[in-house]
Amino acid sequence: MAVYHADALVIRSREYGESDRLLTLFSREMGKLQALAKGVRKPKSRQRAAAQLFTYGEYLLHRGRTLDTVNEASPKESFPHLWNDYDRTLAATRVAELLDMATIPGQIYPEAFTLTLTVFFLLEHFDPYLLQGAYALRLLRLLGYAPRLGECSECGGALCGPRLFISSAAGGALCLTCREQYAGRWISAGSMALMRQLLNGEMRKLDRLRWNAMMQQEILETLRAYCEETFERKLKSWQMGSAAVEGGGQDRDGKEGST
Ligand SMILES: [Zn+2]
Repeated sequence: MAVYHADALVIRSREYGESDRLLTLFSREMGKLQALAKGVRKPKSRQRAAAQLFTYGEYLLHRGRTLDTVNEASPKESFPHLWNDYDRTLAATRVAELLDMATIPGQIYPEAFTLTLTVFFLLEHFDPYLLQGAYALRLLRLLGYAPRLGECSECGGALCGPRLFISSAAGGALCLTCREQYAGRWISAGSMALMRQLLNGEMRKLDRLRWNAMMQQEILETLRAYCEETFERKLKSWQMGSAAVEGGGQDRDGKEGST
């Protein structure tokens, strides 16, 4: 089959050659794949919008010897809200980077596809960083790394005290006795409780949750470390600080592709 079809999200879009873009597509039917979108950086290219980061569309792809190419593309949703607001752009960039890091080509992840698409839509109105946190926890669960946050991951015992310990190596929270055997980090009991809600609460009601700046930083930093340790890669866009998105490569590349 030389030509095939993909219902996909653009999770990475990099400049390639003179006027092309190399896309990482996350598709419903085939998981993660790479495809070359030829000539899309030319001003008159009809496929310009379809090659933009975060776009959801239908792609007709041609299987090449080394690289597949985009024959035709029709964007279904370009999520303008992900480009109009710094925090939403950053949260979506982090979602896309985490998905790219946590998945491998050749494997199918229909639930992760649906989760990502849902989060891109919800980012229009919800707190972007709450969604980012919920996304990371739920993606971990979909990929078989569900963190245990309600009891000790090692002995199943109760968690107590104002500060609780969490370890990616143990697979979640640890009681005071079991924590001695593991590397990890301390977080407040309030942040642990909120993480449980981000993992288990109904997605469309997440916006009712409230947090303060301290909890936000603690939770996102904990999740960054947890995901980096689980997948043994660095999450560039997750580094705290407002310069993260300006310094990142893929968002700028993707933005340039917009019309
Ligand atoms: Zn224990």
